[in-house]
Amino acid sequence: MQGRRNKVYKKQRPEKINSSKSAAEIVRELKGQGSPASSYRERSLKIHGLICAKCAREFDYKDRHLLTVHHRDGNPGNNPPDGSNWENLCVYCHEDEHSRGLLGDYLSDKR
Ligand SMILES: [Zn+2]
Ligand SMILES: [Zn+2]
Repeated sequence: MQGRRNKVYKKQRPEKINSSKSAAEIVRELKGQGSPASSYRERSLKIHGLICAKCAREFDYKDRHLLTVHHRDGNPGNNPPDGSNWENLCVYCHEDEHSRGLLGDYLSDKR
């Protein structure tokens, strides 16, 4: 008599692995959440896109430092995770926004 052979059928093969993000990118993202000051900025850019909400100017990933996060209610401490209080403004529009005498909250945020 023949001994039984254990055959393992693997029908599930990962045919397509769509990894749009590299592992390094994900790690960077996770680490970015450690610093609240800069993480909300990255989140806002991610949620609203690399585009100025005012002049609709678009930015590349490498130019994203020209895009700043404006707080709609003027309170930099109000950072809801859904981004409802954020507006991405280019530095020019942002300055214009604040030069209207509304707020001066970002004067200290500039480098
Ligand atoms: Zn703009
Ligand atoms: Zn602002």
